[in-house]
Amino acid sequence: MSQQFGTFTASELYCPKCRCAQPVRERLLLVLPTGELHEFLCSRCATSLGKRTVTGPAVTPAVREPAPRLTRPRRLLR
Ligand SMILES: [Zn+2]
Repeated sequence: MSQQFGTFTASELYCPKCRCAQPVRERLLLVLPTGELHEFLCSRCATSLGKRTVTGPAVTPAVREPAPRLTRPRRLLR
């Protein structure tokens, strides 16, 4: 019997709920300036089993700069 893991690279982690090692699903949690935070979920009960930060080439090459501060005098209208 062969198991199919699909295209994603599956690894197994110990799941305290299932009380045995389970294949995990990776989910993108949030995107940080330094990388991406991924979460590992148990493929059986969807318990969070761990997190990892993926650092690498930025997804968006163009760094968004903060808006330039305008030192424009405010006009006070009466
Ligand atoms: Zn589980």
